[in-house]
Amino acid sequence: MNTQEFIQIEEQYGAHNYHPLDVVIEKAEGVWVYDVEGNRYLDCLSAYSAVNQGHVHPKILAALVEQAQKVTLTSRAFRNDQLPLLYKELSEITGYEMSLPMNSGAEAVETALKLARKWAYTVKGVARHQAEIITATGNFHGRTISIVSFSTEPAYRDDFGPFTPGFVTVPYGDAAAIEAAITPNTAAVMLEPIQGEGGVIIPPAGYLKRVAEICKKNNVLFIADEIQTGLCRTGKLFASHHEDVRPDMIVVGKALSGGFYPISAVLADTKILGIFKPGEHGSTFGGNPLAAAVARAALRVLVDEKLAERATELGNYFMEQLSEIPSKHVKEVRGRGLLIGVELNKDSGGARRFCEALQHKGILAKETHDYVIRFAPPLVIDKETIDWALPIVREVLQMS
Ligand SMILES: *Cc1c(COP(=O)(O)O)cnc(C)c1O
Repeated sequence: MNTQEFIQIEEQYGAHNYHPLDVVIEKAEGVWVYDVEGNRYLDCLSAYSAVNQGHVHPKILAALVEQAQKVTLTSRAFRNDQLPLLYKELSEITGYEMSLPMNSGAEAVETALKLARKWAYTVKGVARHQAEIITATGNFHGRTISIVSFSTEPAYRDDFGPFTPGFVTVPYGDAAAIEAAITPNTAAVMLEPIQGEGGVIIPPAGYLKRVAEICKKNNVLFIADEIQTGLCRTGKLFASHHEDVRPDMIVVGKALSGGFYPISAVLADTKILGIFKPGEHGSTFGGNPLAAAVARAALRVLVDEKLAERATELGNYFMEQLSEIPSKHVKEVRGRGLLIGVELNKDSGGARRFCEALQHKGILAKETHDYVIRFAPPLVIDKETIDWALPIVREVLQMS
């Protein structure tokens, strides 16, 4: 079957909740993906940073295959021999005493929100069902009804009410607005250290540090959603570390899977994560041995291959080179590590047509928020590959 035949079937039988580029991928390796016509592309999206380790990483693949032949699912009704080791290794790598595994990012965010509410009632002493959680404009934390309840993006939200109460939204990047929004009922502040889906929005320097101080002073939990920014993408294990901030809870997902098998987690210390009791939260697949074995291998690759250092070095190079491309369409190039956004001017016609032009020349990138092209290749990319991509990006950014 050719590309058009696959697309026709997909459009006919599948819900239209995405607007993908018209490329049908059949295999991938490292930073490269291949379509059903035999064309090769450089992946500059990395499945929204879920494949930081590169596609089909051999060590993660081996862990998946080995575990799949032993036991894949026990449910948490019984114990398995992979989950305890994932807990321990996550703790050793991240410095948090405990973790709680789920499957998708949105589920881990929901878990963090539930935990913050329970902490407010049982530790802070907020009156039951009065807890408030502060979030920021332009946020992206997932697609559940509670999460879209505090989205400020009409497409994510408008047709999906009634909404979950208990959320307050203040402008992103404005620490004073957070301080002003705190009440005695505030349980937590939840933020992305850099807003990925929001258009690679980097808050003002000192913002995260200030927010952490405000939270501490007011006995409010600071939750960092590092599902996209975490696990080495921005050049550190967590983007919060750029400001020496240690959030009370960190939510991870995406690259925890190495791109193989969905797994997400909430990380926190025992005094917070220790408050859940049996029966209060769970998931049939959460913490299954296959996911745990894959995540253990995915974490090992991040550490062994020094992918944070790589993201810094190659991200700085890529961003510097992108900034030097003369183009009437480019408003700003910004980013941290290998999470880079090229924001286009409003009269450029939008980022989509540039992404389509890149696709035809062998680079897959996806527009975010209409005017931003995100460049976020797997962290295993090398300088030669960036040097291969740059003239193509230049040509596309210079089209009329
Ligand atoms: C992708 C993402 C999520 C949602 O993760 P899913 O696995 O798609 O549910 C949440 N927060 C951030 C910051 C993300 O980038």
